[in-house]
Amino acid sequence: MAENAHAPLHTPLGLLAELTHRCPLGCPYCSNPLTLDPRERELDTASWARVFGEAAALGVLQVHLSGGEPAARRDLVALTTAAHAAGLYTNLITSAVGVTPQILDQLAAAGLDHVQISIQDSEPESADRIAGYAGAFTRKRALAAEVTRLKIPLTINVVVHRANIERIAEMVELALSLGASRVEIAHVQYYGWALQNRARLMPSAAQVARAAETVEALRRRHHGEIVIDAVVPDYYARLPKPCVGGWGRRSLNVTPAGKVLPCHAAESIPGLEFWSVREHSLAEIWKNSPAFNAFRGSSWMQEPCRGCARRDVDFGGCRCQAFALTGDARATDPVCHLAPAHNEVAALAAIQEDAPYAYRRM
Ligand code: SF4
Ligand code: SF4
Repeated sequence: MAENAHAPLHTPLGLLAELTHRCPLGCPYCSNPLTLDPRERELDTASWARVFGEAAALGVLQVHLSGGEPAARRDLVALTTAAHAAGLYTNLITSAVGVTPQILDQLAAAGLDHVQISIQDSEPESADRIAGYAGAFTRKRALAAEVTRLKIPLTINVVVHRANIERIAEMVELALSLGASRVEIAHVQYYGWALQNRARLMPSAAQVARAAETVEALRRRHHGEIVIDAVVPDYYARLPKPCVGGWGRRSLNVTPAGKVLPCHAAESIPGLEFWSVREHSLAEIWKNSPAFNAFRGSSWMQEPCRGCARRDVDFGGCRCQAFALTGDARATDPVCHLAPAHNEVAALAAIQEDAPYAYRRM
């Protein structure tokens, strides 16, 4: 990939810290890569603490302690303490399985600022089937109650697909009943595990249209009670999203083994050279890593993006999706109605089958 040396260097605001890929759940849309980092390759406590300090020095404000399931790390409290001591706003993104009330108490004392709990459905049986883990739903309810008891702000994450899209209203009601101040409704994004399960997860166009109306009605009904964030699913959109706020522009992602990526799916693009925090500082990586410079600015773009008025608004969409759908990471994201491959997206969305999920497993 050609470097884009003259692109302006922005300050990163967010760090996604994938503390581990280990997770008891097996969601068929998991955003972790198909090849998961084993436990023995994970960064140790001291390395993560150094990374948090370097992130804060670089201008990062917020760290998302994520995974896998972050509670699979026995040093989660020490890691939270280190992130807090570095001056970062700490957000725990958890499946809830493995976070006991005792651990949550310790995390709160360590300075944890915010918790995001993912729910798979409002119906317990369906939720556990999607997660591939019996009893997960009950644990999520229990942890949410503990989070609100400790007065830690709570966001509920809902990943939407064909099996639960008809129950968006029930899931928002559930989030309200759990005391969440925000609910994030995200449609599945199709790379990695989700790409393998695309035909089993894809909703129909009619379902997506109904879901959009439901979200608008819920926003009106619950205005002032809960913040509802939702975006149009890519395969049914006319314009792409500014993926991760632009490649190498606002965020960085550190994998369990220490590789630094511009977005969590970036390893799905072959030929990119990622640097590791084991060999480089975060500042060096942000500035000079070939992967970060590959799609900065606009000189890498092809037509129609190159001459488009929106190129500094959506940055040509998602590079991982462009590669997944066209085989060319520099192509215009096919979600865009101006992209040469746009019609193929609708054809792919029309392929739906009711086979068992391929669950994410180590
Ligand atoms: S998406 Fe599911 S399987 Fe993947 S890390 Fe989150 S809870 Fe675990
Ligand atoms: S052509 Fe490229 S820059 Fe223009 S709207 Fe489509 S994806 Fe965005």
